[in-house]
Amino acid sequence: MEKIYLDHASAMPIDPRVLEFTSKYLKGLGNPSSLHSVGLEAKRAIEGAKGKVADLINAESERTIIFTSCATESNNLGIKGTALRNAGKGKKVVTSAIEHMSVLNPMKELQKNGFELTIVPVDSNGMVDLEELESALTKNTTVTSIMYANNEIGTVEPIKEIGELVHEKGLYLHVDGTAAAGHIPIDVQKDGIDLLTLSSNDLYGPQGAGALYVKPGVVLQPVLPGGGQERGLRSGTENLFSIAGMGEAARIAKNEMEKESGRMLKIRDELIEKILEIEESHLTGHPKKRLPHHASFRFSRIEGESILLNMDTTYGIQVATGSACSSKTLEPSHVLLAIGLKHEEAHGSMVLTLGRSNTPEQVPTIVNGVKETVQRLREISPL
Ligand code: PMP
Repeated sequence: MEKIYLDHASAMPIDPRVLEFTSKYLKGLGNPSSLHSVGLEAKRAIEGAKGKVADLINAESERTIIFTSCATESNNLGIKGTALRNAGKGKKVVTSAIEHMSVLNPMKELQKNGFELTIVPVDSNGMVDLEELESALTKNTTVTSIMYANNEIGTVEPIKEIGELVHEKGLYLHVDGTAAAGHIPIDVQKDGIDLLTLSSNDLYGPQGAGALYVKPGVVLQPVLPGGGQERGLRSGTENLFSIAGMGEAARIAKNEMEKESGRMLKIRDELIEKILEIEESHLTGHPKKRLPHHASFRFSRIEGESILLNMDTTYGIQVATGSACSSKTLEPSHVLLAIGLKHEEAHGSMVLTLGRSNTPEQVPTIVNGVKETVQRLREISPL
């Protein structure tokens, strides 16, 4: 049975071109902090990767990019680092109800440490309520964190407008760009972004690297103090293999984004149209303002976990239900609850995220797998 992988939001395979580019660093090269020629070669590899990541998001220069180990670390540094360093200007922080846990939990940690946290609601399509956001912002709001696009429901937020609101009153806008980067254009300068989180693996790069864009002039405190690497903002010897790979992955993503996103959008729309023919099936997330590779649904009277297992074992198709992290708990996804679904509705969710290996020819097999799975599970459902 040919496997059809449709869970790219959870993990992506390394692009073979990236692997070829970065495999020499697996064997080990010097420490980028060493002054000898081997160390300088390692340093150049990191600077090259910074340049490519900066290019993907139209950053002012390669110096704005700080490499970390993953998106979770970048979110922690971006949020806690700026909130703590700027606490003298105010102790208010703002975020939305559909953020990834690596944003919500650092925000809650700040709250436990005396910051005032406002969590802004979203509408039934997952769009951040701009009026609520505006009224949450005050001159004491130092950090506002809103994601570029949501990984579970695909909704793309109006970041430029959000940036304008934030800068009218507050200080910094942090954006989790993990789910959006490489799929839709991100321009940190035009979008008014002060801090942006990116993940290597979400760009077909190796796991083990993330990046934080820090706009020139933004000040933050390190969450991992030590030997002073990465301009003192993220100490620890750099993971050269993953960082060089992330750079190459960003370069390829920039070159191919327009063509590849257009190709996936057609497959996505066909999947959405055909899957919604199933009785009592609903699209989750925004019908139009959504990521081009993202199709997410809910089906009444059945469980997402059963859909995932049946799709995998019977059809060889890997799908997701909710986020990669929340799929291990029995709690319904906080994102689906935030868009107003009841607990029992949120349990029947299925998320398909397309990638470079998917083709239009796979659509009939996928649709058939989903239709038969839903029918079979409903036949045996006690609900
Ligand atoms: N933010 C978003 C939007 C995500 O989808 C993820 C998971 N890929 C993360 C942050 C955290 O990424 P990681 O687990 O690689 O740190």
